[in-house]
Amino acid sequence: MSADLIHDNEILLTPTPTSDTLLQFLIRARSKRKFTVLVTENYPNDIKAAHIFAKKLCDHKIETIVIPDTTTFAVMSRVGKVILGTKSVFANGGCMANSGVANVVECAKEHKTPVLAVAGLYKLSPLYPFNRDDLIEVGNSGKVLDYSDSKLVDNVDVVTNPLDDYVSPEHIDIYITNIGGLAWVVLVSSNGAILSPQELFNLNIDKRERIAIIGAGAGGSSAAYYLQRFSPGKYDVTIFEKSDSVGGRSTTVDVKGHKVETFNLSTQKFGEKVKGTVAIWNGDRVVLELGSSWWSNIKLLINKFLQSYYDGNFPFANLTDLTVESKFSEVTHLTAEEYLYEQEISDDFANNLIQAATRVNYAQNLDQIHGIGSLVAVAADGAEQVKDGNWIIFDNFIKYSDAKLHLQTRVKSIMKNEEGWLVSYDDKTSYFDQVIIASPFGQSRINLQSGSGKKLSEHPVEFK
Ligand SMILES: Cc1cc2nc3c(=O)[nH]c(=O)nc-3n(C[C@H](O)[C@H](O)[C@H](O)COP(=O)(O)OP(=O)(O)OC[C@H]3O[C@@H](n4cnc5c(N)ncnc54)[C@H](O)[C@@H]3O)c2cc1C
Repeated sequence: MSADLIHDNEILLTPTPTSDTLLQFLIRARSKRKFTVLVTENYPNDIKAAHIFAKKLCDHKIETIVIPDTTTFAVMSRVGKVILGTKSVFANGGCMANSGVANVVECAKEHKTPVLAVAGLYKLSPLYPFNRDDLIEVGNSGKVLDYSDSKLVDNVDVVTNPLDDYVSPEHIDIYITNIGGLAWVVLVSSNGAILSPQELFNLNIDKRERIAIIGAGAGGSSAAYYLQRFSPGKYDVTIFEKSDSVGGRSTTVDVKGHKVETFNLSTQKFGEKVKGTVAIWNGDRVVLELGSSWWSNIKLLINKFLQSYYDGNFPFANLTDLTVESKFSEVTHLTAEEYLYEQEISDDFANNLIQAATRVNYAQNLDQIHGIGSLVAVAADGAEQVKDGNWIIFDNFIKYSDAKLHLQTRVKSIMKNEEGWLVSYDDKTSYFDQVIIASPFGQSRINLQSGSGKKLSEHPVEFK
């Protein structure tokens, strides 16, 4: 959401350098936007915090300028948005924030600059701020006026150092919460009381269908990309990836300091004649030796498959219909083991060559994958690679999908109940309307359960 609210090259101003939520909000926005943040110094209480905050923003490649509080009005005409962190949000839609914020929002009002406040729903308080002065804690006034300067002290009646400011609701345009952006009037029900977090959830402000994708490999990343491309903005997509990078099995590995970009089992092009003998050596002995006809045989099978796959079938609306119409269902209903046996492919060839390909490509053995899968696994013809690694395609799919990506997050279980699919990861759980499992199910170690506690089938595709 942060990237939706911040534009490229925008200048933002914040007077709340102590807010971690705001820091994370800006860092998140930086992954998609380039912008500048002006941080007010907040004399005298938050000067150190302002400098630390600015340093953290710089570390994340966000252009940051610390400005004296006195320049706020002067720079406000150049500011696109003021963004605040909040301490708590009251029943009237006002909030508590660092001292100095009240001054900044007044300047923003004068310049008609929008003010956004970030606040997790847990910051909503049922308290109505009847007596605002009582809410404000006062700190050491010696920070404002040096008591050793007796001449100055003698000429001043009262010096106060408020630690907080009360910000009235009229000064805030939108509250950015963990369930979306809310105008403060939405926070308050018709009887004047602030809505509970549950009631706010029930408002269903973000009506988009929530989709969880498990795995950021080719399957997961392309699912996210095409959901966004064909139904822009319709789905709220979250991707969970247990490793620390995108790409899954399409990855670049470092072998003794050399980047290895692609692997491929195939060394033979379709059109080429096989020279000499092809054999497989298992380290001790030759386990398979092939005559010159082996490639012609497999080629015939693959050609038949490719021809009916491409001829007149694109684009297709429904994969199942395509499978039935093109008679592939006759092969998808058979395991690869059964299909290759039917085609009189020898056990040695099937187990030592084709199964090697189905294992690396699809992490499945011949008795687990269907017939067509086994053919595709050995059909690497005219393959091309992206410079620096094919994983870059999948990384870009995710960037353009607008999906939320959680790396190093392993999904442990998925459970269906009346509210939807409850996905458990790390020590957390979240509900989704749909879940796409885009990882080899057997290896993903996901406990998949229906609401009754009954374990769902681990092999949703039933073979005949
Ligand atoms: C050596 C080799 C050569 C290949 N050559 C080719 C080729 O030339 N052409 C071709 O088209 N294909 C090739 N492939 C196959 C291709 O790489 C794979 O089919 C494809 O990458 C699979 O993508 P995927 O998204 O289905 O699964 P994966 O890439 O396996 O992605 C699944 C992701 O899910 C994550 N995950 C698993 N469990 C969990 C969990 N519980 N929680 C969160 N995340 C989880 C994994 O970390 C992984 O990142 C090759 C594969 C290999 C290994």
